Amino acid sequence: MKILMYNTVSDELPYVKKWIEKTGHEVVTIDQPLDESTVERAKGFDAITTQQTTAINAPIYNQLAQFNIKQIAIRQVGYDVLNLPEAFANNIRLSNVAAYSPRAIAEYTLTQLFNLIRHNKKFERAMAVGDYTWAAGGQAREIHNLTVAVIGVGRIGTALAEMLHALGATVLGVDPVYRAQNEPFVAYTTLDDALSRADVISFHTPLNDETRAMADKNFFAKIQPGTIMLNFARGEIVDMVELEKALQSGLLAGAAFDVAPNENDFMNQKQPTTKLPADIQRLLQYDNFLLSPHIAFYTDTAIKNMVEMALNDAVTMVNGGFTENEILR
Ligand code: NAD
Repeated sequence: MKILMYNTVSDELPYVKKWIEKTGHEVVTIDQPLDESTVERAKGFDAITTQQTTAINAPIYNQLAQFNIKQIAIRQVGYDVLNLPEAFANNIRLSNVAAYSPRAIAEYTLTQLFNLIRHNKKFERAMAVGDYTWAAGGQAREIHNLTVAVIGVGRIGTALAEMLHALGATVLGVDPVYRAQNEPFVAYTTLDDALSRADVISFHTPLNDETRAMADKNFFAKIQPGTIMLNFARGEIVDMVELEKALQSGLLAGAAFDVAPNENDFMNQKQPTTKLPADIQRLLQYDNFLLSPHIAFYTDTAIKNMVEMALNDAVTMVNGGFTENEILR
């Protein structure tokens, strides 16, 4: 089978090469996304895959159908770039990669939690100016003594909960969906109960009407003094004004964020720090606030899975088969 891979990035190439060796299919990679100017490239191919943040507009699906393309496999979770009605009207099946590596995000959440409880930023800043004393960072806490509230115990939350439990921490789970199989390592409870008992609060929900600004003034009023807050889900879940107040007052002992509100304005690009949003500039001054540029997902396993799952789905769909990654009508 001949597959055209749009918007390929260099990180993906080694996995494409291995997949070709393993399956014997032909894959042609190009740098450009799928749009009106590149759709012609699909002519003569059996299947296509892309990962992109720009929309795949209505006229493209009819053109693809004319080239006898029967599917689009996107190598990402979010499929808002697709026009579902147009795709289905042209009998084009669609797939995404919904779970490329929950462990990747869970492991990085854990990494940053350890960085916070060991006061690593404080120690590093002190050592940078020659201060090698214990007092520079202060005494740490140990993970097995901590109670962690995981808000959203889905794919990522479950992976994190399992690891925390293995390390001896007490894990509280808050999720409207109850998964009995998580009982060995999660004690499900209400949000209010979790907030009243947690040393650490970690968000792993999608952004939706209920979770937008979930961590508001009322939420912060319910947490314990000295709580650590982790947000590796979506920036808009936490009210940043309340976050800053809580760090300033000491209500929060620390916070680690891999996401931020309106992060597309500054993440995944280079700029002088003075161009960052004013609140981010202020927050970065804190020794107990850690920010990372939405990299929790960015591991070898995740990139490999994005490539392999999308290519496998492309083949399956062209052959008329079933994949659990199919986006259904
Ligand atoms: P998932 O759908 O498997 O799990 C989400 C869970 O949140 C579900 O169990 C759902 O029932 C629960 N939930 C929904 N509303 C809730 C609420 N109001 N209170 C409590 N729980 C609620 O999703 P996932 O794959 O685990 O991903 C979770 C989120 O992580 C994504 O939506 C995304 O925002 C974020 N994410 C971040 C990165 C990164 O690199 N930082 C990468 C991938 C995903």
